[in-house]
Parts: sequence; C-alpha cells; structure tokens
Amino acid sequence: KPVIIIVVGMAGSGKTSFLHRLVCHTFDSKSRGYVVNLDPAVMCLPFGANIDIRDTVKYKEVMKQYNLGPNGGILTSLNLFATKFDEVVSVIEKRADQLDYVLVDTPGQIEIFTWSASGAIITEAFAVVTYVVDTPRSTSPMTFMSNMLYACSILYKTRLPLILAFNKTDVADHKFALEWMEDFEVFQAAIQTDNSYTSTLANSLSLSLYEFYRNIRSVGVSAISGAGMDDFFKAIEASSQEYMDTYKADLDKRM
Ligand code: GDP
Ligand code: MG
Repeated sequence: KPVIIIVVGMAGSGKTSFLHRLVCHTFDSKSRGYVVNLDPAVMCLPFGANIDIRDTVKYKEVMKQYNLGPNGGILTSLNLFATKFDEVVSVIEKRADQLDYVLVDTPGQIEIFTWSASGAIITEAFAVVTYVVDTPRSTSPMTFMSNMLYACSILYKTRLPLILAFNKTDVADHKFALEWMEDFEVFQAAIQTDNSYTSTLANSLSLSLYEFYRNIRSVGVSAISGAGMDDFFKAIEASSQEYMDTYKADLDKRM
C-alpha cells in the first residue's frame, strides 16, 4: 500500500516547490510515485501531475459563474471536484500495488482546505500530513506561533500524523525553531523582545503548544537545494508506521 503524503501550509511557504522536490526524490530513488494537484488556482506546475484538479474545474470560470473572489473560487472549485473524489480514490486503490507514494499538493488557503466539507472528504482518505513552514519568516515569534496554531488545528481536524517541514533552510537554519519547541522559556524570552500586545496570550499559548510539539515530528528541508530529504523520508516512514498502528485501529473501531 502506498504512503499518501499530503502537503499543506501557508501560501508562499513552498508547498509546490517541496512537492516538486518529492517528485524528483521519488524518481531518483526508483520509488513509484503518483502525483495529485488539488490547487485549482496554480498557474504552472513544475512537475507533471497524474491527476490535476484543473483538468476538471476551471477556477477562473467558477469565479465568474458564481461571482466569487479568489478564496470563494478555490473553495467552490474544491467542492465541485469533491464529487469526483470517489473516482480519484478508486484510481489510486486500483494502482495501490504498483505505488510507493501518492504525493498531493494543495492550495495555500488551508482554512478552506481543513474546515470545508470538501476538505473533510479529501483528508479522510489520506495518510500523512506534511505542514510546510516558511522558516525565514518564522524567525519572528508571532509568525512562528501562528504557524504552529494552524498546524495544530490541522492535526486535530484530520487526526492524521503530522510532520513539520521547516522549509527554505538554505536561507535560514531551523535550529531556533527546534529550540523554541524544546524549551518554552526560550520561546517566551524571544517573545519579550517582540513588544507586541498579544505577548501575554502568546506566553500562555506556548505552554499549550508544548503538548502539541511532543506529538509531532520536525525536519528542516530546502525545496531548492534538496537538503534534509533523507530525514524527511525517515520521518515519513516513522509516521506511516504510527498510522498503521494507531489510526487504522481507531478507524476500524469506529466503523
Ligand atoms: P506555495 O505557494 O506554498 O506552493 O509556494 P511555492 O512553491 O510556489 O514557493 C513560493 C516561493 O518560495 C517561490 O518563490 C519559491 O521559489 C520559494 N521557495 C520555495 N522553496 C524554497 C526553498 O527551499 N528555499 C528558497 N530560498 N526559496 C524557496
Ligand atoms: Mg503552490
């Protein structure tokens, strides 16, 4: 059975570039990959997709037809595509024996992706969520925290194993992030220098997030240079094992 890697994260964090890197890595290691693009608004993809939402749904026409803005257009496109999702799942199931990885790119509007009905249908079928973080931007404690809260909400919504991929390590090392996650006092000290009015809230949130950090895996990667990919695939392996052990058992019980 293939491991399904679903890539989420804020717009511009490097999801599409990272997926491209995954496609290359899969190819180089002679693994068999199947690529799915779920971003209806992407202009050009750097990789070939086996399934592309844009073949089914024309995002610009959806916006025009339903008189929607960019976010509404993406949401409606995903909802329209969701009716086809059974077909996607059955195509993947048919090929399950011949595949090692199914790689899925998503739009940047993660709130849409995780909180809408279509998001729910789509994530139900998937295995490991990779949350891509823009590391250089997250050197700001507030941006870091908002990323972690997003990732945390995705973990609870999907109930799937989650890997934090600190991307763009060619620009900024992710060591500071690991330190913040290991020791909330170090993070709180960083907030002090930020002089923001929300810092009291951030202080107490950092205590709650401490529990979240203990339940996830983190790796530093660079979609551009390819650094960290071996660590990433090790994390994938550990996560998929966890998925087999706990989540599947949990699902079977609920059925
Ligand atoms: P997406 O919106 O999350 O899909 O992000 P993209 O993959 O489109 O990337 C957004 C921008 O970040 C682009 O300009 C990329 O070239 C850049 N980028 C992505 N990954 C990296 C990386 O590892 N290092 C650097 N320096 N830039 C990156
Ligand atoms: Mg993208």
